[in-house]
Amino acid sequence: MAFNTKFVFITGGVLSSLGKGLASAAIGALLESRGLTVTIQKLDPYINVDPGTMNPFQHGEVFVTDDGAETDLDLGHYERFTNAKLGRDNNFTTGKIYDSVISKERRGDYLGGTVQVIPHITDEIKNSIMLVTNNVDVVLVEIGGTTGDIESLPFLEAIRQFKADVGKYDVIYIHLTYVPFIKTAGEVKTKPTQHSVKELRSIGIQPDILLCRTDRYLTKDIKSKIALFCNVEEEAVITAKDVECIYEVPLVFHKEGLDEQILKRLQIWTRAPRLEPWKELVEKFKELQYSVTIAMVGKYVDLTESYKSLNEALYHGGIPNQCSVKLKFVDSEKITEENCKEILSDINGILVPGGFGARGIEGKVLATKYARENKIPFFGICLGMQVAVIEFARNVVGMKDAHSSEFHKETTSPVIYLMREWFDDKTKTVQKRDVTSDKGGTMRLGAYPCRIIKETHAYSAYDVESVSERHRHRYEFNNEFKQKLEEKGLIISGISPSGELVEIIELNNHPWFLGCQFHPEFKSRPMDPHPLFRDFVKASLKNKLS
Ligand code: GLN
Repeated sequence: MAFNTKFVFITGGVLSSLGKGLASAAIGALLESRGLTVTIQKLDPYINVDPGTMNPFQHGEVFVTDDGAETDLDLGHYERFTNAKLGRDNNFTTGKIYDSVISKERRGDYLGGTVQVIPHITDEIKNSIMLVTNNVDVVLVEIGGTTGDIESLPFLEAIRQFKADVGKYDVIYIHLTYVPFIKTAGEVKTKPTQHSVKELRSIGIQPDILLCRTDRYLTKDIKSKIALFCNVEEEAVITAKDVECIYEVPLVFHKEGLDEQILKRLQIWTRAPRLEPWKELVEKFKELQYSVTIAMVGKYVDLTESYKSLNEALYHGGIPNQCSVKLKFVDSEKITEENCKEILSDINGILVPGGFGARGIEGKVLATKYARENKIPFFGICLGMQVAVIEFARNVVGMKDAHSSEFHKETTSPVIYLMREWFDDKTKTVQKRDVTSDKGGTMRLGAYPCRIIKETHAYSAYDVESVSERHRHRYEFNNEFKQKLEEKGLIISGISPSGELVEIIELNNHPWFLGCQFHPEFKSRPMDPHPLFRDFVKASLKNKLS
């Protein structure tokens, strides 16, 4: 298309958790449905260089991209809603920006000048935005945090300047606000929106479009009031109504005319949107005939945000089975030999997700044993696979103190351990790792190839011999114990091309018991559910109906 790259900046006001990430992802989907190519970038105001070391309790899931970047969970929404290929440059934090500016200062790049927020930090932010413009029609940039936060000021200043840099028809600002319905007054209130926009205007940004999060459609009167007080056109006041299913958001936005408003303001002409796939998806979601309950046995069970991609992948996996997936979050610390049966009695499948740290490990081992012995479909992801290996080694092979050296340094049977050296199929080099290496720096991160062995559950799911999946872990299956475990029935169904790294294990004599060292949830899409999740839900449904 013959136009300059266009930029859409999305800010948020009033309060957090209004769904800015989802809104950005849905805008991406809408623009793609009109034949445009998009990418989405998240600018996060916190000072951590990346969320890799942040507690998922506080921050939610760490989303891993193919190139091995540990990013904000909103990138998961972006990938699930659009075809954008995301990587390291799609997520910048204040920490990453300052890190780069300070390195340049130390190298002498600023030639002795005084290094300041304006222009040095703001220039660095603007340059970071320019990094993702290659081959796309529209760049969407979501600014984390809420307008009024001290931390986000440099980002807001940078995007304010951006319009003057690239031209007024190439940049728009969308502001997501909250319009609450106040029961006692019997009406919706626009004041928080007015204040939030005032705050934004005081730093020089006039929003072009307002996305008003609310539980009901806004009337013409309310829209015109907001338009007047916030200095936006009435047609650019969009109701962002609560929805039952997140994949409905692009449809609701379209109904409100959001895509038209964006294109008009950016002076882009496109074909009409093709939203059929989204409509079909939402219909399918709403007409699921069956349902299964999956126990998610983990540590961060209080906060569903900690397992965002996993929850979505399970829902996706339900669709081809016409099955809705209910999750029962089970705190593994509470599982004991005595109560295990009771806790897990009413469930159809058991999933042990990824995690770090020893807390709750024994409960996970017990839940895994219960799944193995009672032939309940089991899916172990990353740490979940490691737990499955530990359980098998202890209770089937009889290696009583089998463990991961992450949790028990002195075990005589470290079935999961830190592999000191291995051939890396990605870089074609020998990789080294040891206990003294930096936290974070030693992880196997991002996409790695995996060879699938025929006549296994893994192969019947994938139906191809070679796949690529994303990793985020330090510890690996210890090949020293491979033969012993295989002799007792453990099946290695996925392996790195060099043959050194065990990537998938499963069991014979079991309807569906599979553990993978990678995180398949990062690659599941609503319209293209991940085969392992699809087959896990299928087995769980079969278990329920049998
Ligand atoms: N703690 C384990 C490791 O580092 C598993 C990590 C994970 O589940 N992502 O290998």
